[in-house]
Amino acid sequence: MKLSTFYHPGYAAPIGDHIMPIRKFGLVAAEVSTLPYVKMVEPTPVTEDDVRRVHTPAYINAIKTGEPRELAESQKFPWSPQLYPSVLLTSGGCLAAAERALIDGSAAALVSGFHHSCADHGEGFCTFNGLVITIDALRAKSLIQSAAVLDCDLHYGNGTASLAAIRPYIQAVSVYGNDYANNVPYRDVAVRHHHDGENHRSFALKSRANGDDLLAVLDQALAALLARGRPDLILYQAGADPFHLDPFSPLELDHDDLLGRDQAVFAFARGQSIPIAWVLAGGYTPDVRQVVKVHVNTFHAWHSVFGG
Ligand SMILES: [Zn+2]
Repeated sequence: MKLSTFYHPGYAAPIGDHIMPIRKFGLVAAEVSTLPYVKMVEPTPVTEDDVRRVHTPAYINAIKTGEPRELAESQKFPWSPQLYPSVLLTSGGCLAAAERALIDGSAAALVSGFHHSCADHGEGFCTFNGLVITIDALRAKSLIQSAAVLDCDLHYGNGTASLAAIRPYIQAVSVYGNDYANNVPYRDVAVRHHHDGENHRSFALKSRANGDDLLAVLDQALAALLARGRPDLILYQAGADPFHLDPFSPLELDHDDLLGRDQAVFAFARGQSIPIAWVLAGGYTPDVRQVVKVHVNTFHAWHSVFGG
């Protein structure tokens, strides 16, 4: 069985010269499309009805029209008319991968999950929350009843947590590594306050955490993911920003450590027989080849667990 990987060049709306390296998606696509076990597929956009289950009419309208501009740019990059179609398409990629995972057991989408996006505004480069849009769309189609989000981006998934808080069918687990409580100075302003609840748990990595530390925390996170029963689906945010050269990362995680993380996640999903779909999430290392390598390694990790 080949690994269906959903990608569309239209994912990337023009946002100018920005720390968010949107060209990474095309670079990852070019590389993984050469892997013999990967099948590239173009997704279709989600509908406005899909978005309306998660986001408020005022916010959706701002993303469509650019007005009011402050709300249309609350995710912190310049609004353009191409933004709305591009975010329908990225959410469509996430949804398509999740649907495929329910059939094949696993699938990937070369999109971000946009875990900082909240119901009525965007944050941290995240416009619409593709993860929760996906879960609510699958429930509307009666394809699942419950889902877990395993968020291994460097940053705490505050938007997903806020949306999960009012959705008892979601178990959102965030393993993050930019906790100021660790008291180590670094240059990340994107730290967000978090309050764990029944539907959303968070696990902080200490500063300078290494691969062993990560796997130990991941064990706890995976146990939490099952705390309220076995979910029908796992959406996995395979973040590249925990990487040690990332300008936001206070962690000491190299390529092998992140590969080990991905293998542990896939082995868990396979062992529990839970379908898993993954997305790429953040990654800001100035040498974009390093970011691409983290994301391509997630495919290698998949192959080592599910392939052959
Ligand atoms: Zn991040």
